[in-house]
Amino acid sequence: MIIPDVLINRLKKANNVAILTGAGVSAESGIKTFRDPDGLWAKFDPRELASVDGFMSNPQLVWEWYQMRVGVINDSKPNPGHFAIADMENMFDVFTLITQNVDRLHQQAGSKKVLELHGNIVENHCFSCKKPFNGETNLPDQQLPKCPECGGNIRPNVVWFGEMLPVAALNNAELAAEACDVFFTIGTSTEVYPAASLPLMAQRNGAFVVEVNPNQTSFSKKADVQLAYPSGIAMPEIVRILKEQK
Ligand SMILES: [Zn+2]
Repeated sequence: MIIPDVLINRLKKANNVAILTGAGVSAESGIKTFRDPDGLWAKFDPRELASVDGFMSNPQLVWEWYQMRVGVINDSKPNPGHFAIADMENMFDVFTLITQNVDRLHQQAGSKKVLELHGNIVENHCFSCKKPFNGETNLPDQQLPKCPECGGNIRPNVVWFGEMLPVAALNNAELAAEACDVFFTIGTSTEVYPAASLPLMAQRNGAFVVEVNPNQTSFSKKADVQLAYPSGIAMPEIVRILKEQK
């Protein structure tokens, strides 16, 4: 694949780089969002399971669904795209990684600072009193754990449909988009707001915006450079060229 010189030159001059990642980056590690490997969950609507209403009407069912998803994630590994992005954290004065993924694969690959717009599936808290829960989650019969403080139901730290995004993460993501010299949008459909507004915000503030996605998105034509490749192909190549030319 050929990385355009204009992108490499922009990156060589850049002090401040921001990256937004979405489901495509995890899909390259075998994690298909909401997809069930053995079909047991096919009859359920993820939008109903991943919601406050869904949890309130059947917390045990929602918990079992998340246990299935945690199982898929535990069987997955970061891919070369994750590792290249982790490498880039040390290549610029200011670097911000923003992700819509909840699987923590960026952290597994070595990324230290990650703004998790949709929370993560690894940590849990009490649905009733909101206190963090650090107890055992792998109970017999996938039983739903209870809060030791108030007896409430334990839920994952993910942002559900209809819930607010974490304010601090979103604010910091917007500040990064406004301040960066180069902005990457990688493996995201750029259809889910407010994350979808970040590349536009970056572009309005003068950033050079790169889309890495094998599929065309609604943002593709607006991108300054569109790399129609998987993250695991494009990002290691960009890092390789940058290291070679330093
Ligand atoms: Zn509680």
